[in-house]
Amino acid sequence: MNYNYKPKELTLCTHCILPETFPGISFDEQGVCKYCRQEEKKIIHLDEKKEEYRKKLDSLIDGTRNKAPVYDVILAYSGGKDSSYTLKLLREKYDLRILAITLDNHFVSPAAFKNIKNVTDHLGVDTYSVRPPWPVISEMFTLTAKADVFSKTTLLRASSVCTACIGIVKNLILKTALEMSVPLVAFGWSPGQAPIQSAIMKTNPGMAQQAQEALLNSFPESIRKKIIPYYVPKTYFEIYRERFPQNIHPLAFFDYDEKNIIKELGQIGWMEPKDTDTNSSNCLMNAFANHCHIERHGFHPYVWEIANMVRQGVMEREEGIHKIYSDQNIQMINFAKERLGI
Ligand SMILES: [Zn+2]
Repeated sequence: MNYNYKPKELTLCTHCILPETFPGISFDEQGVCKYCRQEEKKIIHLDEKKEEYRKKLDSLIDGTRNKAPVYDVILAYSGGKDSSYTLKLLREKYDLRILAITLDNHFVSPAAFKNIKNVTDHLGVDTYSVRPPWPVISEMFTLTAKADVFSKTTLLRASSVCTACIGIVKNLILKTALEMSVPLVAFGWSPGQAPIQSAIMKTNPGMAQQAQEALLNSFPESIRKKIIPYYVPKTYFEIYRERFPQNIHPLAFFDYDEKNIIKELGQIGWMEPKDTDTNSSNCLMNAFANHCHIERHGFHPYVWEIANMVRQGVMEREEGIHKIYSDQNIQMINFAKERLGI
C-alpha cells in the first residue's frame, strides 16, 4: 500500500467514509458499514444529548469559576483551529481564567506559533510552551515512525507518532493542574475525535495512573526514562488525590462548523496556516506520521475521526473524502524524514 491510496481503488462506506481496509469493517446491501449502523440510534438523540451537556458544563463552571488560587482551567493548546476555538469559547462565553500550555514538539509550525501569540494576546490569556530537548523528541518520533508500539485499539484512532506525542500532552497538562490546583483541564477534541459521553468527566486517579503506566510501558526503557519527567509522578496519585480535575472537551457538544470556526477565529487574529497538511493546522510531523500509518495499516489514522464527523452531519462527505484520500504532501513527508534522519 502506498500513500496514493484513493477512493476509486477502494470500497468506501456509502454513508461515512470508512474504507474496506479498516479493521473489522463489513458492509450491508446498501453499502453502509457496520459502524454507521451501530451509531444510528445514538445519532438520532445527539441534539438532545448536546443540549444536556451544555447545561452540564454551565453548572460545572458556575461551581468552579474563581474558586481556585490562580487559574480555573488549563487548556492543551496546539495553536490549531480546534484548540484555538475552544480557547475562545472558554474565554468569551465562560469568562474563565485560563492557562494555555503548548507542547513544543520541535514540529510546531511557525504559523501555529504566530497564531498562539495572536490569539492569546487578543483573548488576554497566559500561555507557555514546554520544549523537551531534541534528543528526547527525535528518539521518540524515530521509534514510533518506524514501529507500532501501542495497542491495536489505539492505532485505529491515531498514528503511533501522534499517540506518543499526545501521551506527553495529556500527562503534562494533568501534572500541571495537580501542582497548581486547577479544577478543570480542557482539550479541543473535534466532535469526531472523542465521544460526547466522555466530554465532561472527572479524572479518576486510579484510572489515570493505569492509563499512564500502560502508555509508558509501551516504550523501550531508554525512551521511557527520557519522557517520564513529563508524566505525572507516582506520588501525585496519592498526595493530590482530592485535586484531580474535571476533564472537558466542549467541541463535542457545541455547534461545529469548520468554515464558521475559521471565520470566527479570523476575528481574533488566527490565520489558516499554509504550511501544514489537510488534517492538521499546526504540526509539521503530521504528514509523515500519516504516511507511515497508511503504509503499515492500509488506512488513514484520521479516518475514524472524519468518518464520525460525516456521520454526525458536521462535515460534508465530499469534504471528508478530500481530507482523507488526498495525497500526503511529499515535501512535508520528506521534511520530517530528513529532520529525523530516517
Ligand atoms: Zn459508515
